[in-house]
Amino acid sequence: MKMVLKSPEEYLESIKRPVNLYMFGEKIKDFWNHPVISPSINSVKKIYELAQIDEYKDLLTATSHLTGETINRFTHIHQSVDDLIKKVKMQRLMGQKTACCFQRCVGFDTANALYSVTYEMDKEYGTNYHERFKKYWIEVQNQDLTVDGAMTDTKGDRSKRPNKQTDPDAFLHIVDENDDGIIVRGAKIHQTGFLNSHRAIIMPTLSLRPGEEEYAVSFGVDTNEKGITLIYGRQSCDTRKMEKGKLDIGNYKYGGQEIFVIFEDVFIPNDRIFMKREIKFSGELVNRFAGFHRQSYGGCKVGVGDVLIGATSLISEYNGVEKASHIQDKLVEMVHLNETLYSCGIACSSLGFQREAGNYEMDMLLANVCKQNVTRFPYEIGRLAEDIAGGIICTLPSEADFNSEVVGSLLKKYLSTCNEVSVEDRYKVLRFIENLTMGVASVSYRTESMHGAGSPQAQRIMIRRQANFESKKKLIKEILDIKVF
Ligand code: SF4
Ligand code: FE
Repeated sequence: MKMVLKSPEEYLESIKRPVNLYMFGEKIKDFWNHPVISPSINSVKKIYELAQIDEYKDLLTATSHLTGETINRFTHIHQSVDDLIKKVKMQRLMGQKTACCFQRCVGFDTANALYSVTYEMDKEYGTNYHERFKKYWIEVQNQDLTVDGAMTDTKGDRSKRPNKQTDPDAFLHIVDENDDGIIVRGAKIHQTGFLNSHRAIIMPTLSLRPGEEEYAVSFGVDTNEKGITLIYGRQSCDTRKMEKGKLDIGNYKYGGQEIFVIFEDVFIPNDRIFMKREIKFSGELVNRFAGFHRQSYGGCKVGVGDVLIGATSLISEYNGVEKASHIQDKLVEMVHLNETLYSCGIACSSLGFQREAGNYEMDMLLANVCKQNVTRFPYEIGRLAEDIAGGIICTLPSEADFNSEVVGSLLKKYLSTCNEVSVEDRYKVLRFIENLTMGVASVSYRTESMHGAGSPQAQRIMIRRQANFESKKKLIKEILDIKVF
């Protein structure tokens, strides 16, 4: 069996390409050297690194059903319930190793949704999207590419449908077409890891209706394709990464990445188009992708939670309060919440089922319950971390003061706690907790938990649809001998 895994170094070399990128109002060249960006590259690189290590191969690699080769699991199309469970376990592991968003799941989830949707479209319309998609995805597997998935449009006036907007580009759409392909215009925002991905698959953002056909489009595109402009998303305290020193950053090794992506008349050749005007299937693609990504959050956020619980437990030791019963109880509460999220991720995977296309999909109701809990529990886990760490996480002087020849020794004297605890280690852990609860990493752990993979209301709509209230009413009627009409 041939291995097609890229080494971490090969991954890094492969993304060193010219892109039309802006940050802080300036065009950025050689983005891989930029201090604000490089931690996010480290996160994706870590996936390539762990896939090479025997201990992690069971989770991080899989056998492709398309080629029979050993591939990175982030490019796998799930072939069993076991694959669905391993996906969540792998995401927890990656969250534990990076303590942030490692970005590679979006395209993974898109591919698993498109695999069955393209099959069903072909069945209905006699198109050949499924074979086309498989060919495209074999290239991804064979080259071990990182692929982003892009769904969220800018949406303009939220009270209006896409075809009723003052600016028709508020939702990405087809603006022209010829025998060789289509031309698209619009923007996709909140694009996790777009810059660190080789390719992206674009999807519609909502279920479309007659008259909105030009918006029902899905396609693959290289992330540096002509006509694409990238604007780097700001994150709280991001310029700390540009300062001298690293301790004030908190998690100075790894980070997430969000990009504002603009498509100005980008040409998409026919062999990369996976949906073109099939409005009937747009909603299905949105729901299946969202379902897979809501399952993902039952892994990735749990892994990050593990690191935050570790940091909180450690700081309680460094502060000399680890034996206090209320501290222990709060740590137990953090674990309880975190493991509840994991239980949801594992449960929706365990109840997975096979689609007609042959691939496996998670249980839709439980995936939405999973993500709904993710919109709440990390906030509570973060609140408990702040409670235990103390107010010093937001009053601590800078690393420059800590190392100053004038005031450094004074700070070290007054920041000392237990005899055996290094002042610098305590400083690091406090900064890490600050970073995860209110700094750069709070993007990955808090706001992304709220809005990533859909805002809370989106899950409530799906929960209502899946709940089957009629069958529940029937249960009570049977017990109370109420005639069922
Ligand atoms: Fe993956 Fe989680 Fe980041 Fe989404 S938020 S890309 S699931 S790590
Ligand atoms: Fe996300």
